[in-house]
Amino acid sequence: MRMILVGPPGAGKGTQAARLVETLRISHISTGDMLRAAVKEGTALGIEADRHMKTGGLVPDAVVIGMVLERIAKPDCANGFMLDGFPRTVPQAEALDAAMSAAGIALDAVVLIEVADELIIERVTGRRTDPVTGTIYHLKYAPPPAEVADRLQHRKDDTVEACTARLDKYHGETEPVLPFYQAKGILRRVDGVGSLDEVTARLMTALGRV
Ligand code: AMP
Repeated sequence: MRMILVGPPGAGKGTQAARLVETLRISHISTGDMLRAAVKEGTALGIEADRHMKTGGLVPDAVVIGMVLERIAKPDCANGFMLDGFPRTVPQAEALDAAMSAAGIALDAVVLIEVADELIIERVTGRRTDPVTGTIYHLKYAPPPAEVADRLQHRKDDTVEACTARLDKYHGETEPVLPFYQAKGILRRVDGVGSLDEVTARLMTALGRV
């Protein structure tokens, strides 16, 4: 299966993608994770990306498109992949479409996780990541166990200001991608409000894997 998980910041894309790829046995490709790794390594790409990421802006299309197209051509994507956080703009969607057509492959599904703006800020500012396991917690909704509490990290762009900017980008740049997939008949919408298990179950249903 080749699919995209889309939704506003804090919709649960990362958390749900980690659960789904285990069941579906496909590769999880998170552009946010790839960019954060590049920032941490201090590569030229990372330094460029960091300038945009810390304020909640988008990394330029050319940078992200090159990174993703290279990634999906790797052998571990031959059985399928789940894109998380890409495409985020219409040019990104067009570039993905062109590259996949050229490779003779197609997307099976684009699943939109819907969460209202009013809930996003609280979800995002309470988010914490365990750098050792990659597990994403929420201080209120998915509290971390005491033994990992000291090592948890708070993303630089999980502040109220950066999150507001990211929401604006989502509505202005990412939502316009949806009609493209709607027209192809592969867009599915899932309610992202509920327990982790409830949302996972809805996603599996939307993918026809009940
Ligand atoms: P995420 O982890 O998906 O929330 O992404 C974190 C940040 O990385 C975003 O706010 C952007 O600055 C950047 N980013 C991730 N994916 C993309 C993309 N497809 N296009 C542009 N910027 C991106």
